[in-house]
Amino acid sequence: MELTLLGLGAMGAALARTWLAAGYPLTVWNRTSSRAEPLEAEGATVAATAAEAVAGGRLVVVCLLDDASVGEALADADLTGKDLVNLTTGTPAQARARAAWAQDRGARFLDGGIMAVPPMIGVPESGGYVFYSGSRALFDERHDVLAVPAAARFAGADPGFAALHDVALLSAMTGMFAGISHAFALIRGEDLAPKEFAPLLVDWLTAMAPAAYEIASQLESGDYTEGVGSNLAMMVEGNATLLRTAEEQRVSAELLVPFMDLMARRLADGHGDEGTAGVVELLTR
Ligand code: NDP
Repeated sequence: MELTLLGLGAMGAALARTWLAAGYPLTVWNRTSSRAEPLEAEGATVAATAAEAVAGGRLVVVCLLDDASVGEALADADLTGKDLVNLTTGTPAQARARAAWAQDRGARFLDGGIMAVPPMIGVPESGGYVFYSGSRALFDERHDVLAVPAAARFAGADPGFAALHDVALLSAMTGMFAGISHAFALIRGEDLAPKEFAPLLVDWLTAMAPAAYEIASQLESGDYTEGVGSNLAMMVEGNATLLRTAEEQRVSAELLVPFMDLMARRLADGHGDEGTAGVVELLTR
């Protein structure tokens, strides 16, 4: 198995170490060559240029900062007959363009979205995994090696789907962090220990997360009132209490207001008996 890895940042170095530990001969390249030295000591072959590294591998994995750095690093590389796997975070459109670019250069292509941070790489029980999309044949043939750093999940033949899944999950996480920040701001300055409050937050968010299944079912049936336990009219009423409490606690409600405004708009449009699925429609441009 001729394996090449371009990029030895925090994530690239973690990937490299799992392949070396699993006994895969590995050729590596990094723009700043000093970052490759520790990997060389651990058994990697260090290439002087990205083009040389690509020439040394049949399967070429790229984990650089962004899509522009991928284009820059691979500009002079001969990709004919290579299997190119891009684990650099990007947008769905960038992944689709990169897939066409790779195909024009004679390579099979997979884009990847890493759902893990470096300490989770090579630790199966961490729950980390990578979404892949693009060439199914490449995924199937290289699955064993790709699954060494983290479990590999195929997200579709559309090369943009790994990035789309990745970004959709990260976007949901961003909303969750916004909520957590607001909750901690509310209790700040009170006789409440954040460490004692944290488990309550985790339990509540865990209990509420399955609402995603209800919303999914409503979006698929088109009936946004289906199985609604907490309706929009009630929730918008409750939002007023959330906002008044923020004011009493001298906390800015700026993280909550955009979502609450959308809920109020949907209610004003006459959808008080729905849950929050209708907000998805308001967001769709
Ligand atoms: P780092 O900032 O640690 O490393 C960035 C890497 O990109 C370095 O190897 C750097 O080289 C290289 N690089 C930057 N610009 C260029 C360029 N113009 N040409 C060639 N090489 C370049 O980032 P990570 O390793 O953490 O992240 C890499 C990718 O993995 C990113 O797309 C990131 O979004 C993704 N990822 C990271 C996660 C994390 O938690 N770290 C989690 C999930 C995904 P040099 O050493 O010379 O600067």
